[in-house]
Amino acid sequence: MKEKLDNLRAKLKDIKNLQAAEAVLGWDQQVYMPPGGSEARAEQLATLSKIAHGMFVADDIGMLLDDLAKADYPYDSDEAGLIRVVRRDYDKARKLPSELVAELSRTFSLGQQIWTKARAAKEFDQFRDILGKIVDLNIQVAEAFGYEACKYDALLDQNEPGMRTAEVRLVFDALKSELVPLVQAIAKQDDKVDVSCLKQAYNETDQWDFGLIPLKAIGFDFARGRQDRSVHPFTTTFSINDVRITTRVFKDQFPSALFSTLHEGGHALYDQSGAPSLEGTFLAGGASMGVHESQSRLWENVLGRSLAFWQFYYPLLQEVFPAQLGNVDIETFYRAVNNVEPSLIRVEADEVTYNLHIFLRFELEQDLIEQRLRVADLPDAWNAKMEAYLGLTPPDDAMGVLQDIHWSSGLMGYFPTYALGNVLSLQFYQQALKEIPSLEEQFSKGEFGELRAWFKEKIHRHGRKFTPNELVKRITGVNELDARSYLNYIKRKYSKIYVLP
Ligand code: ZN
Repeated sequence: MKEKLDNLRAKLKDIKNLQAAEAVLGWDQQVYMPPGGSEARAEQLATLSKIAHGMFVADDIGMLLDDLAKADYPYDSDEAGLIRVVRRDYDKARKLPSELVAELSRTFSLGQQIWTKARAAKEFDQFRDILGKIVDLNIQVAEAFGYEACKYDALLDQNEPGMRTAEVRLVFDALKSELVPLVQAIAKQDDKVDVSCLKQAYNETDQWDFGLIPLKAIGFDFARGRQDRSVHPFTTTFSINDVRITTRVFKDQFPSALFSTLHEGGHALYDQSGAPSLEGTFLAGGASMGVHESQSRLWENVLGRSLAFWQFYYPLLQEVFPAQLGNVDIETFYRAVNNVEPSLIRVEADEVTYNLHIFLRFELEQDLIEQRLRVADLPDAWNAKMEAYLGLTPPDDAMGVLQDIHWSSGLMGYFPTYALGNVLSLQFYQQALKEIPSLEEQFSKGEFGELRAWFKEKIHRHGRKFTPNELVKRITGVNELDARSYLNYIKRKYSKIYVLP
């Protein structure tokens, strides 16, 4: 068996290397590539993904997996984990014809370039045709994978293994029933939060430099990673020892860059903290997008927007920006960075209204994939839901339906993982607090090592070895996703910021 496993590992290593090369090209595409490079880059990425896919779906890998199914490794071992995960990936990949794989890669690269131009022009019409093609391709993928209840299940499963649309709907309904009235109650408040301290000009270089301080403190390892600028912040991983994050900095949108640095930093900690034995194997990476997002949302919000965090960092921030913050007390600043206000842009949304942006996308994606909504009617449907959930109408498509990169790069069934990540972050964090009651006291001293070590032990080191549900069970003892911890956290925190009914 050992020989067969070594043989499988060697074959997978080449595929992982090709995928890492794809990731480097994808990173460059968003960070440095001039616009003229887009068509050639789309072809290069398509070629690489076609080769990698062809190597992966080869019959000999299937035969090795069949033989290895008889092996008797302990469930928690790297060996058993690898066989389980590769079997799952292999069965899926075999269902996609390699021509379709190349077509997906090519279309998604072009989609991003067209979206960038359409968004700059604020014109959905420029993006409509390629989006129609992207929806069609996603439907083809769902049909190829197969599904029980609905096509959307097949797309969701790519990001959240084992999760069904009906389960997500259940969790979202629980969130909705409390968050929608909460947002309305806050909107009616007379006692508005004073955000004037944030509505000033903040030097971009100083913002960038300040963000690096907590990024280092939470444990991002610059010897094994770096941060660059891009239009849309993201994290990408070439190796456990080379994890890239990006952010964007705006002079008049403080402290958006800092929170996006903490968010991507949370993703990066996950990828930098995998067990070294997983390096270069199919077990490297995260259990699911939702579990990944639980880490980024936790460091961004539960930590980065907490009073304890600012008790340590606010005096330092005041030193960097004395003209803007010298006369603003910490209480005013803390309330300002936690201001709840319905807004148009998801990535700038506060913790409470953020989920409403996700409900909207989750519903529209299902309508597109189940072909209940035509792509041409998407902007109107978007605006109607924006009005229903947040009471706002986008002034143009750039502030509305064109705001996110996801659909242009083919990602459908991905948005729900952000809200699932919020829910998971609190399920995990409540458990961490039970085991380490002094966490918040540590944060107020700028110490994050114990929480980071806890996550490394419980989640990060396992990479993709366990499914999201297995992790939840192992960590919390509870069998399923549960919105209760998250809702309790939101209510406890915001009843101190606002007077709530
Ligand atoms: Zn994220």
